[in-house]
Amino acid sequence: MPRVAAIQLSHETNVFSAVPTDFAAFQASHLLIGDEIIPALRDSNTEFGGFIAQSEQDGIDLIPIIAVWATPSGLVTRDAIERLLAIAAEGLQRAIARGPLDGVLLALHGSMVTEVDSDGDGYVMSHVRSIVGSELPIVSTLDLHANVSLRMVSTVNAVVGYDTYPHVDMAERGREATLLLERLMRREITPTVAIRKPPMLPTSQRMTTDRMPMRALIDRAHEAEEDPRVLNVTIAGGFPPADVEEAGVSIIVTTDNDPALAAQIADEIARVAWDLRDGFLGGVASFDDAVGLLAAMDNGDLPGPGPLVLVDIADNPWTGGPGDSAELVRFLLTNKVRDAAVALVRDAEVVNAALAAGPGATITATLGGKTDALHGDPLPVRAYIKCLTDGQYVNDGPMMAGVLVDLGPTALLHVTPADGTEAPPVEVIVTTRAETPIDLNVFRSHGIEPTRRHVLGLKGKGHFRAAFEPIGRRVVLVEGPGITGADLSRLAFRRLRRPIWPLDQEVRWP
Ligand SMILES: [Zn+2]
Repeated sequence: MPRVAAIQLSHETNVFSAVPTDFAAFQASHLLIGDEIIPALRDSNTEFGGFIAQSEQDGIDLIPIIAVWATPSGLVTRDAIERLLAIAAEGLQRAIARGPLDGVLLALHGSMVTEVDSDGDGYVMSHVRSIVGSELPIVSTLDLHANVSLRMVSTVNAVVGYDTYPHVDMAERGREATLLLERLMRREITPTVAIRKPPMLPTSQRMTTDRMPMRALIDRAHEAEEDPRVLNVTIAGGFPPADVEEAGVSIIVTTDNDPALAAQIADEIARVAWDLRDGFLGGVASFDDAVGLLAAMDNGDLPGPGPLVLVDIADNPWTGGPGDSAELVRFLLTNKVRDAAVALVRDAEVVNAALAAGPGATITATLGGKTDALHGDPLPVRAYIKCLTDGQYVNDGPMMAGVLVDLGPTALLHVTPADGTEAPPVEVIVTTRAETPIDLNVFRSHGIEPTRRHVLGLKGKGHFRAAFEPIGRRVVLVEGPGITGADLSRLAFRRLRRPIWPLDQEVRWP
């Protein structure tokens, strides 16, 4: 039985975040070691879920080493990455001591930035390569928002990127990576790779793969993959706030011993991406537009069931936002919007005050805006404490179905303005940890039926669409203050290659 070690070490790093990503942040998000992994992730829609399923089907002895990720946030500290790599190295060495390995599966993000090395994923790959040697096949999955470096594609034998955004194909790509590794282990294939990086730095609000222009690129990738000489085509949209040299769009084509074909396909898709680049711009409404839509709903001009889904993209935890902006709540109170529920505002101080007062009590508090000066001011509120929870629920999916989410101690508050101004209370889920709400269970676990609210306020970019678009009457993106929005001119880039579109409009390519 072939022996395959598997490692997930995943982080999307926003270097503009004031919150460093330390070891405790990984522990608080998701850290499983060795034998804990398979029972927790079997049948989940994650890369590991796919590794497990395909290995069981094909008679592979899968040796789980570590499965760890943290909510996107600031630079990964030296201590965190070295401790995680030490756990990975120890696990790999223990596996090797029991007998030779036949291959390694990795599940990395592709946009991790560490204090030690700005190409965090290339660093992890090099580390694993140095332990298992130059001959052992390694295949890695990557997120669709990876900033892919030359080092990454030259350190492992093949990469397999997600084809979907929202990311609903994590398990499927895990299976694909396993199948590719099996062919490598049988010495059936000799991967040859071409990577192209047109000077493009799109933000992700229009990167969803069911819409143009990403749909055209993914369709072309799938068409190319029908050729048996083509092993994989990966389209990565990139992650601007990592602020690394290699940030932006990457096209990676892996063929079977045919470098010319890889180059030809990569060139062609890169050209299409460049030609369609303007399609990545826009897609964000103003708060005034949102007021107009609310009025239209009240006048019956926006018929249909379901809530208006109002999404602030500038404080999206999964893009590295602190999650503590209260600007959506402020907007809903100012405009006296009825029957609105917001997920979420991270504010441990307010949760602690609610815990001390208990359900049924009313407190005054200043909500959010405490991490830095970039995400709006704290909002003074009167808050009725409706309920307190442990903040844990399991996703129904489709995205990351079966995965346990832990928001930390959480309070459901009914908030009104602290100055006594008349306004319908807004239901706000106030959490200890920052997470992006991607699943209806964030509301249902707090007794809120999202399909029956008038307005839902979310923080997000694209992932929320998998669960919330089907129930929403209309989805509107707005951009409050913050570091995760579409307006890249707010960010002081230092390491990014220049010139790059759309920051430098004059850039010509090729
Ligand atoms: Zn992503």
